[in-house]
Amino acid sequence: MQTSEPEGSSPNTAEAASQSSEPKPASESALETARRQLYRAADHLDIDPNVVERLKHPEAVHEVTVPIERDDGSVSVYTGYRAQHDSVRGPYKGGLRYHPGVTRDECVGLSMWMTWKCAVMDLPFGGAKGGIAVNPKDLTLDEKERLTRRFTQEIRTIIGPMKDIPAPDMGTDPQTMAWVMDAYSMQEGETVPGVVTGKPPIVGGSEGRDTAPGRSVAIIAREAIDYLSWDIEDTTVAVQGFGSVGAPAARLLDDYGANVVAVSDVNGAIYDPDGLDTHAIPTHEEEPEAVMTHDAPETFSNEELLELDVDVLIPAAVGNVLTAENADDVQANLIVEGANGPTTSAADANFAERGVPVIPDILANAGGVTVSYFEWLQDINRRTWSLERVHDELETEMLNAWSVVRDEYESRDVPWRDAAYIVALSRIAAAHDARGLWP
Ligand code: GLU
Repeated sequence: MQTSEPEGSSPNTAEAASQSSEPKPASESALETARRQLYRAADHLDIDPNVVERLKHPEAVHEVTVPIERDDGSVSVYTGYRAQHDSVRGPYKGGLRYHPGVTRDECVGLSMWMTWKCAVMDLPFGGAKGGIAVNPKDLTLDEKERLTRRFTQEIRTIIGPMKDIPAPDMGTDPQTMAWVMDAYSMQEGETVPGVVTGKPPIVGGSEGRDTAPGRSVAIIAREAIDYLSWDIEDTTVAVQGFGSVGAPAARLLDDYGANVVAVSDVNGAIYDPDGLDTHAIPTHEEEPEAVMTHDAPETFSNEELLELDVDVLIPAAVGNVLTAENADDVQANLIVEGANGPTTSAADANFAERGVPVIPDILANAGGVTVSYFEWLQDINRRTWSLERVHDELETEMLNAWSVVRDEYESRDVPWRDAAYIVALSRIAAAHDARGLWP
């Protein structure tokens, strides 16, 4: 349980996440959740019901067969998907996931979340998600490369820098994106770095892309702490997951002065009431599954971490960890979602009733797709940005999105999640209205 994600950002991180954590039984499907959020937001807005009807459905879902030769000469056949939800504001954008639990419906639901996420950040992208139903731990590196190249070939005509731009997600990483980019470019007869984001910087990836989701979680947590008029120096934080989202989030909050008292990986949690030295704890990328090797006064299970008496809880591992079963026992006074979909709707209702603010994933972890946008800009302009520039521009984008969502939260008196969806849906609906339905 170290890194689930918005995406995997390093070969070890993402891959090991899918290897080491059993898939969580989805207590509700991503598609159901995405649709419910759409209706909730629509209820607050005076938008054309026909637009809502269109947004309930993906524009396209591609299903492909991906055969690969195994190292022993036998052939294995997998099923891959690319769901393209909505492109009214720009090319489809979203991750590629290698996980045994990947299904058509999951890709559709997650593609809808990407539409909302890009819109809440006001990025000129629509939403997509894809993946292969495969357990990457069953494959060697060479087999994974063959799988990725064949999958790219199968979806080649429907992706492209102006059509649909994949990125890392669970079980995929910068190396996977480099193979996608290479396979696509070889067939096009020219190097096309902008066809994927989350690549290694040496082939057109952006500085700061790997830590961006965690960085945005920390920025949003900092703003929420300030909004609640808490002193960050007196604020205690627990972070579930110490991978590509949780580790940078914990370290940056530590740098901001917060007291990060607990972090975990798949093996369990470490706790120090005086605050952990987050920079000394190995991230999953630095040394997989090593959180528990770090000296700390107390250790807990991952489930116990969620129920610690802290001010801020950041679930940054897998989805559906805050449920009807444990919501009552969660003692945190603020939840900032690092993973995609860590809170079920039953838990959400419980937190709303108890007045515990939940800052949603589509805002908090949107730093990943925002720096993907920066990467795409760098690729199409053939011009690289410094890490400092990426950090500055990400800070600006996150603060802008925070202030627009905060305005909706205040003026409509709705939960933070609804406020973010209202911002997203009003932009998408206005774009549909302007473009119209044709033919
Ligand atoms: N997979 C990431 C997410 O869920 C990022 C997608 C992207 O960068 O396109 O937000």
